[in-house]
Amino acid sequence: MRIVTKFEELAVLRGGALVPTMGAMHPGHERLFDRAVREAEARGLDAGCVVSIFVNPTQFNDPRDFEVYPRTLESDLAICERHGVSAVFTPAVEVMYPPDASIPPPPLPVQAERKGLEDEFRPGHFPGVCQVCSRLFDLLDPAAAVFGEKDWQQLVIVRAMCRLQGRNLAILGEPTARDPDGLAMSSRNQHLTPADRAAALSLSQALKLARGIDDPRAAEAAMVDHMRAAGAHPEYAAVRDADTLEPIDAERDRPARVLVAARVGTTRLLDNAAWPGSTDTLD
Ligand code: AMP
Repeated sequence: MRIVTKFEELAVLRGGALVPTMGAMHPGHERLFDRAVREAEARGLDAGCVVSIFVNPTQFNDPRDFEVYPRTLESDLAICERHGVSAVFTPAVEVMYPPDASIPPPPLPVQAERKGLEDEFRPGHFPGVCQVCSRLFDLLDPAAAVFGEKDWQQLVIVRAMCRLQGRNLAILGEPTARDPDGLAMSSRNQHLTPADRAAALSLSQALKLARGIDDPRAAEAAMVDHMRAAGAHPEYAAVRDADTLEPIDAERDRPARVLVAARVGTTRLLDNAAWPGSTDTLD
């Protein structure tokens, strides 16, 4: 497995199946690596599966969150190696954002600014995500890139950005990996105390609860109540069109998604599922 840090060494990584990450690997990431290895094989991509590890400062709206974000490079590399990753790209900030070059910001899809979702609570997050993904796609020119459904809004927004940019790049989604108790795996779960963890379970429980409720507004209210009762501090609980992320009414003919975000102790957690849905890892 190659480890590439420098701009001059990038040629061997171009044209692969890319998995962008911020490191602190867990089984959710591993699922993405396995998918990318399969895709690279199926598509005959010489560069194979390429993983990037870069804790992107421009997508953190909270400097403290950036500071305490777990950094575990040695064990991350061992995990990548075990999964048949061909190369890992670990750039310095100066390689991603050269101080002497002005790289124009990519177009921001409308989904990135929907009221009542991530953008309202993390302003600047999606512009940062689009910036880092666009830069990675320019540098590594992947044929496919794999993202987790865990970050549904990110998946939809990156796909829409690529469409706006006219990129010839398949953006593939992988279902959310969960602990046996239903908690969506996340690098930030390391910050949960045992008491926090009990409250954290209320997010996936709320998604399940919402599936039994036909009216979107009633489902949203029930989810907020459930998370609050468990000691979590919900920021939103929303039933949305799965692609446009617009609010939907009970009468709908397109796939929908239920999305939640809550603070538990000092940690901010996200989760989502198909709605009313039956075909994902919540079952
Ligand atoms: P991160 O390192 O947190 O930026 O995540 C890198 C990629 O892994 C993103 O595409 C995430 O959506 C994905 N990911 C994170 N957690 C999970 C999970 N529990 N299941 C599936 N994918 C995940």
